[in-house]
Amino acid sequence: MQRFPLHIDGQTRPASTGEWFTSDDPFRGGPWAEVARGTAADVDDAVQAAHRAFTTGPWSQLTATERGALLRRVGDRITEEAHRLAEIEVRDNGKLFAEMYGQTTYLAQWFHYYGGLADKIEGATLPMDKKGYFTFTRKEPLGVVAIITPWNSPLLLLSWKLAPALAAGCTVVIKPSEFTSASTLELVKLFDEVGFPPGVVNVVPGFGAEVGGPLVEHPLVSKISFTGSDTTGRKINEAAARDLKHVSLELGGKSPNIVFADADLDAAVNGVVSGIFAATGQTCIAGSRLLVQDSVYDEVLERVVALASTARMGDPMDPETQVGPITTPPQYDKVLGYLDIARAEGATVALGGGPATRPECGDGWFVEPTIFTDVDNGMRIAQEEVFGPVLAAIRFSDEDEAVAIANDSRFGLGAGVWTRDIGRAFRMSERIRSGMVWVNTYRAVSFMAPFGGMKDSGIGRESGREAIGEYLQTKCVWINIGAEVGNPFVLR
Ligand code: NAD
Repeated sequence: MQRFPLHIDGQTRPASTGEWFTSDDPFRGGPWAEVARGTAADVDDAVQAAHRAFTTGPWSQLTATERGALLRRVGDRITEEAHRLAEIEVRDNGKLFAEMYGQTTYLAQWFHYYGGLADKIEGATLPMDKKGYFTFTRKEPLGVVAIITPWNSPLLLLSWKLAPALAAGCTVVIKPSEFTSASTLELVKLFDEVGFPPGVVNVVPGFGAEVGGPLVEHPLVSKISFTGSDTTGRKINEAAARDLKHVSLELGGKSPNIVFADADLDAAVNGVVSGIFAATGQTCIAGSRLLVQDSVYDEVLERVVALASTARMGDPMDPETQVGPITTPPQYDKVLGYLDIARAEGATVALGGGPATRPECGDGWFVEPTIFTDVDNGMRIAQEEVFGPVLAAIRFSDEDEAVAIANDSRFGLGAGVWTRDIGRAFRMSERIRSGMVWVNTYRAVSFMAPFGGMKDSGIGRESGREAIGEYLQTKCVWINIGAEVGNPFVLR
């Protein structure tokens, strides 16, 4: 089995205890790699290294332009390694090679974009109401950033944080998911290769309680940037609040995909199927609630079921495969559990509804693409995130009802609206409380476009210009250029 040691201060080494844990291949249903089992002591080493790099190391002496050049260089190296990195991701998380390769070839854009932005971080000179002062702001990096990532798209979600954090001048300690650490540990080697100084990018793999907890609580960590479940996000937010640390959270969703009767139904049906069954539904922006207007409900459902039933399952490395396995055994059990819950709540199974036992699924953890009809938005299947290939279909009569159902959720990450009416498209995108609204498309992302959630779906935004602000703080500098010496006992 291949071994993946941890990565601290430019060195790879085993964990302080010498212990390893195994990582499973979801398609073959067994272990394929061993990963160093990080500890609180390893976290401390990594954070100290990141802190040295931030305060006194060569990184702290680089100009913003030099930082940007390094980021662009690593982007180029990532592109050269995209195929290999995607293969590692598929071994670890079982998603389709086509999807993971699509992601790894796209990653470089985040490093190029933020590399370009690194030397465009500007403060302002401020007009003043008081005479005799020159007053300006500086945008300064926050310091050591803890990056904690989930298992579904390990490198993509990491890059959304890593590129802006480094462009801002921060240093980082990464804690990848215990289910998918390998690709992150391979990626960071590329940073050493292109000349990032030691200590700027560190990785401590391991478990939430053993590595994530100590990392979040480390006094030298200034900011936690987290993607994962809202349960863990809440814990992290509480711990960060105790120590007054900055935090950004990208959490889950229960996103509505809303089809109006006036929509191009061919496009809508395709978008609905891709919104929930691509990536086996294991994406935070899965369109897991299908809202369909009464007059086309039966037709749309019939067509969605027909298209979804053609999905080919099997080896994620096979380019013909369309739906891969569930990534982890606990997630597999969780998805199957929700199928029972939905049935018990009175939802009707229109497709699937259980584990996939097709011969091409081998020993993998596969669930049949599943569609429930007769769903009421109050049911758990409509309110809770399943994170699997499970769609809940709900009827609505008009725009107001569609908005009411869409917003009747504690989540607010994404939403899809399918309509040919431009006025309706604008009205719906204004009224829906979610961080992204896609009109006549779904699940589009870009390094240029802000991504993040409202309500329980998170705090902060990734990608786009504003994301770099998540890693900066403002300092205001006042210079006396001739202000009068005033009364010492009153505010100047
Ligand atoms: P998770 O919350 O279980 O784990 C995420 C990470 O947090 C892992 O690295 C885990 O080890 C770590 N962790 C666990 N307990 C911790 C603790 N006490 N302190 C610090 N770290 C801890 O989530 P997951 O199951 O890996 O990922 C699936 C979830 O992620 C879904 O809910 C999904 O919606 C969400 N997600 C959100 C986005 C987004 O951008 N909004 C993207 C992808 C996934």
